Amino acid sequence: MMKRVYDFKEGNKGMKDLLGGKGANLAEMTTLGLEIPPGFIITTKTCIEFFEAGGKVPDGLWDEVEKHVAALERTTGKKFGDPKAPLLVSVRSGAPVSMPGMMDTVLNLGMNDKVAEAMIKLTGDERFVWDAYRRFVTMFSDVVMGQERHDFELLFEKVKTKEGVKGDTEVSSKGLKETVEGQKKLYKKLLKEEFPQDPLEQLRRSVMAVFNSWNIPRARTYRRVEGISDAMGTAVNVQTMVFGNMGWDSGSGVLFTRSPSDGTNELFGELLFNAQGEDVVAGIRTPIKLADLHTQQPKLYAELKAIAEKVERHYREMQDMEFTIEKGKLWILQTRDGKRTARSAIKVAVDMAKEGIITEEEAVKRITPNNVDQLLHPQFDPEGKKKATLLAKGLNASPGAAVGKAIFNADRAEELGKGGEDVIMVRPETTPDDVNGMVVSQGFLTQHGGGTSHAAVVARGWGKPCVAGCEDIKIDTARNLFTVGGITIKEGDVISIDGATGEVFLGRVPKVDPKFEEEKELIQALDWADEIKALGVLTNADNPEDSRRARMFGAKGIGLCRTEHMFFDQEGEEISRRENVQNMILHSEVAAPLLRQLEALEARAETGDEEAKKEAKELKVKLSKNKEVVEYRKALANLMPFQRGDFEGIFEAMDGYPVIIRLIDPPMHEFLPPREELIEAVTRLRCTGENPKELEEKEHLLHVVESLWETNPMLGLRGCRAGLMYPGLTEMQVQAIMEAAVNEAKKGVVVHPEIMIPLTSHINEMHAEYAKLHKVAQKVLKDAKMSMKFKIGTMIEIPRAALTADEIAKSAEFFSFGTNDLTQMTFGISRDDAEGKFLLNFVDRGLLPYNPFQVIDREGVGQLMKMGVEKGRATRPDLEVGICGEHGGDPRSIEFCHLIGLNYVSCSPYRVPIARLAAAHAQLNHPKKK
Ligand code: PEP
Ligand code: MG
Repeated sequence: MMKRVYDFKEGNKGMKDLLGGKGANLAEMTTLGLEIPPGFIITTKTCIEFFEAGGKVPDGLWDEVEKHVAALERTTGKKFGDPKAPLLVSVRSGAPVSMPGMMDTVLNLGMNDKVAEAMIKLTGDERFVWDAYRRFVTMFSDVVMGQERHDFELLFEKVKTKEGVKGDTEVSSKGLKETVEGQKKLYKKLLKEEFPQDPLEQLRRSVMAVFNSWNIPRARTYRRVEGISDAMGTAVNVQTMVFGNMGWDSGSGVLFTRSPSDGTNELFGELLFNAQGEDVVAGIRTPIKLADLHTQQPKLYAELKAIAEKVERHYREMQDMEFTIEKGKLWILQTRDGKRTARSAIKVAVDMAKEGIITEEEAVKRITPNNVDQLLHPQFDPEGKKKATLLAKGLNASPGAAVGKAIFNADRAEELGKGGEDVIMVRPETTPDDVNGMVVSQGFLTQHGGGTSHAAVVARGWGKPCVAGCEDIKIDTARNLFTVGGITIKEGDVISIDGATGEVFLGRVPKVDPKFEEEKELIQALDWADEIKALGVLTNADNPEDSRRARMFGAKGIGLCRTEHMFFDQEGEEISRRENVQNMILHSEVAAPLLRQLEALEARAETGDEEAKKEAKELKVKLSKNKEVVEYRKALANLMPFQRGDFEGIFEAMDGYPVIIRLIDPPMHEFLPPREELIEAVTRLRCTGENPKELEEKEHLLHVVESLWETNPMLGLRGCRAGLMYPGLTEMQVQAIMEAAVNEAKKGVVVHPEIMIPLTSHINEMHAEYAKLHKVAQKVLKDAKMSMKFKIGTMIEIPRAALTADEIAKSAEFFSFGTNDLTQMTFGISRDDAEGKFLLNFVDRGLLPYNPFQVIDREGVGQLMKMGVEKGRATRPDLEVGICGEHGGDPRSIEFCHLIGLNYVSCSPYRVPIARLAAAHAQLNHPKKK
């Protein structure tokens, strides 16, 4: 027979799938010898069986449960309903992955009229007993029977008002008893039955309610957001109650073994004396911070610290624990891996490796690309903060800077957030019902609640900024506003919150980039990652500043230096680069065909064709006097020094590392004024007849623009095609690259130039460009009397290039996958238009599993890449292959690049740390010889 119920003594932490996270941990801790109130677990499989049977418990379950109740009664010496020693239990959910606050709990189960009377006699504490009964009736009615909790709480509030008290602990025992009686009456009125007195009946109903809680909307939402499967089910934990509310030598608390906010190795958490666990979470009284307990009750602090260390060493992970002190005795109720901010995750992992608790590899594996991303997110500019109006200061519950419109309810936040607006959710406190609004918010601000409140926990888990317990602000949810120090913030007013300091500002505070060089632990983790990874990590950069930044982030060279920007005007330069490009294009109409003719003759002459030699000579002389050709050449010559200067700066910044420079790759019309603008100007000049010279110029320009006009510029005169159609253009670039390399080498800079030809589709294009450019490069070296290694390779970004990579590798000395274009051309989807028009909608509808411009489409584009690598290396076994499309900074794509044997990935400077980590993860998950 299938075993559906496990005693805590029978399980261990490896059984999370079956016993749920909480249950497996309780079992593990029991074995570890910690003081765990005894209990048993009903498996997640049983929950699935329950749903499969349409909400019916499987045969035999109740018998099995009763056997375990009997065993529990033997262990504790207490019995359900026994007036001499009544047993009370808690019933809690526990999914295989933690879903904090998502599912419901019933406490004090086993309580009934008889038990209450008996317990009063046993404990002599009437208040405590009626309070326990009150809590049980409230929770049972709400969680198990689906009644409005508020209605039951209202009865308690009425008693409080009647007695003229505020706090729960001030209510008299008579008042509490009256509350219970009122609640039972209400229960009968609403449900047409007496409040159930049989503990086993209470238990059966509660177990089913926990099963059902797996499918309530907020649990489903949480799973969707976190990507948790619906098919796992929840376990049910039944555990002996211990009471934190049995007087002032009792209490309940939560603790993190290290700071979940910044990872500091000291206890973090709070403790509320004379209270049950739910009081801590609900923020009824202000709890004591554990940091303060250190001085107030050093013995208790030491005891907690010792347990925390023991549990942490055992689990080899930072823990989030719940504990109760019952009349001075400390009980551990549960432990789980603590949710934490990115900063904390990184520090905890690195510290634990240094403390010898885990290995360096484990530390690297535990840090997620997302952690790194978050840590390197912008923070508020300190100067901007000084100038801003500080509204209030709350608890620094989850770090980060958020700016947005203050919104006071979840549905409104969801509406605006989905519409693309930045919103900050402002609530007295958040509950799991607010999750839909929280998902789309930039950050959360709450008036109540501490560092372990719902808002704080969720924020840290999602890496969003949160300021909690900001008691200075007075929120009026009915009117959608809050007031603070005479200022009123209405719905839609912009505020800024700093989750690292707890500050709340009026209006928009500017943000600044974080300082990577100050992130000690991150730098350490990435150094370990570098030791592990097989892939190289280069960067996409086209100026010295980006190059230096990328280098600081750990890039080992430039994988893509785009050169298009270098043809546009730069600040502070007297000669216009753009004008020269325009001139080149304007004169190309006549000059380019002539120069191509000359190239063809010279090529024939080289093969020994005497006639061609003669013709070439004559044409050369003729062209040297041709005005169009002269102007065309002059334009190119003017551009050369600019290019050379740009490259010098980049080589210098990348001293010692390879720099892969891609030759020009724009649609050529981008350098000319827009067609519409020219039509307008020409029409105006024609009408006014004012300026015939200008008219003539503009007409010529318009004529050229029209002749360059393409229906599909992305499939037009781009990439190597420009080099093949504009004689001298790429030669000029290569000359600039090599002269820059020579100049820098003379200064002692170590240069490794690699010249990359874009958008090759046919081997003949590659051959032609290679032949002419190789000559130019060699000439520069010869003139400089210098030898230097350089390479000429190509991008693989057209499917045909991947399909014929064996051919292309005959000429290309390296490959780099341009996956932006390769994706565009493989899918036949315009990269510039589709994301805004239909692509994201396709992703939403599941027509595409993800955005292929973000994550490599392994089945399609990926297959072309794989083929490209294999075919290329069949021709040239040591062919260096990399990637420089946007995917080079995406962790899932990086893993794929590792799998198909690329040498490196190249990505934007800010993604470099993420790529280093992701490359290490790829190697750890799929080890290969380096
Ligand atoms: C690419 O196509 O992937 C690429 C890197 O080139 P660009 O984005 O400049 O077209
Ligand atoms: Mg491209």
